[in-house]
Amino acid sequence: MTFLYTPHLIRELVDVPIEKVVTSPVACHSVLISSAGEAWVLGRNDRGQLGKDHAEQNIRYPVRLDPAVFNKEKVVTAATGRNHTLIVTDAGKVYGAGDNRLGQLGRNGSIPGFTLIKSLKDHTVVDVACGADFSVVLNDNGQVFTFGSLEFGQLGTVTSSNLLKIAGQFGAEPSPDPTLVQGLSNRKIVSVTCGTNHTLALDDEGYVFSWGFGGFGRLGHSEQKDLGSPRMIDQFSSTHRINRAVKITCGATCSMAIDGNKQLYLWGKWKNTGDGSSGQPWMFPKPLFDLNGWKVSDIAAGASSLFALVYSEKTSIAWGQVKYGELGYGDDVQRSSTIPQKIEPLEGIAPLMISAGLGHTLMIVKPDNELVPELPKWPAVEETEDGCVKCKKTDDEDNLLLCDKCDDSIHTYCAIPKLTEIPEGEWYCDRCHPPNKKRSHSTSSSVPDLSVSERKKAKAAA
Ligand SMILES: [Zn+2]
Ligand SMILES: [Zn+2]
Repeated sequence: MTFLYTPHLIRELVDVPIEKVVTSPVACHSVLISSAGEAWVLGRNDRGQLGKDHAEQNIRYPVRLDPAVFNKEKVVTAATGRNHTLIVTDAGKVYGAGDNRLGQLGRNGSIPGFTLIKSLKDHTVVDVACGADFSVVLNDNGQVFTFGSLEFGQLGTVTSSNLLKIAGQFGAEPSPDPTLVQGLSNRKIVSVTCGTNHTLALDDEGYVFSWGFGGFGRLGHSEQKDLGSPRMIDQFSSTHRINRAVKITCGATCSMAIDGNKQLYLWGKWKNTGDGSSGQPWMFPKPLFDLNGWKVSDIAAGASSLFALVYSEKTSIAWGQVKYGELGYGDDVQRSSTIPQKIEPLEGIAPLMISAGLGHTLMIVKPDNELVPELPKWPAVEETEDGCVKCKKTDDEDNLLLCDKCDDSIHTYCAIPKLTEIPEGEWYCDRCHPPNKKRSHSTSSSVPDLSVSERKKAKAAA
């Protein structure tokens, strides 16, 4: 098992502008969406959640999904549950893949690969969120629909007095029919987010609603009761818009928000010991003193990790009791911290977006910075002999070029097409960017079939 303790560039995607990264606290899989509206997937696939044959249990490197699967519509967003994935296209359609035992794919039965959720065909869906075994969709009218497991009220479709009965009798029964969350029907919802078994929704005026599993105060209502329907959180109900929320996110057992002042709020349980643990959970949203004065631009919470991005300061901050290096603090330093710390390897790089999963983290950074190409790439390539991969000569180093994707070196005059001088900016070899082929990911042939490390191995063996 390889762990990455410092942020790495994903080699396969260094030449693809990425618009959105998606994972969640319960997910060991991820979706990456390009500016051109194409989706890549990686991670666990044991239930077919990546839309691939589940015999391929783990997909180690990003694999592009065939746009034909989505009727050539552009992918705009996605969500990941424990064992399922939803993908939304610019036509407002939702496609699902993976585990459907509790109806979390909005239909009955299991169909391999990504399949259109027909029960949502009358809606133009603009956003989705997934908890462990349930799904939440938002349409362009600001209405919220849910399906999957309703065991703890996480679908928001039952009265709390019925909840205990439901949990006892029907906890494991599937609820595959997308159902309107009536408790939000006079609101225009703009964002939805899920923890393992709880849900938050943000409306266009900055009010925040929560429902589902209430343990450790993650719903933010100063009590641990489960809620079967939405309830507004007091801390974001100020008469002043600036004190209401602009962004919400859920961790596994906690929740976070940013208000109009870009101040971060946190509630629930996110630690194993001390303040903020099961013994002393935060029962309602509290501003985090450690981050006073920081203008937080994006937030994420994974299974055990917490993140705050500060775009204006080119700083990324992380904390949490983690095991797998998912805070990205760097090699040869502490890997876990209950106090917010800067992610030092990313200092000076403007962070655009972050998504935190179970044991891993994905970020998008602004590439117009000389520090970004200096980050290590993953996977690493084995050291090969120095010199030009074409003519095998090691001399004339002044004319040796390095491919910014595979790290092969090639003389300017051995390159295809030939170059007369070292080019400015990024350069990719003819294997990474075949000449005569339109540079587009609309045909699978433009994407190398083998991962870089596999090609390197093949080369070394040859
Ligand atoms: Zn050469
Ligand atoms: Zn190359």
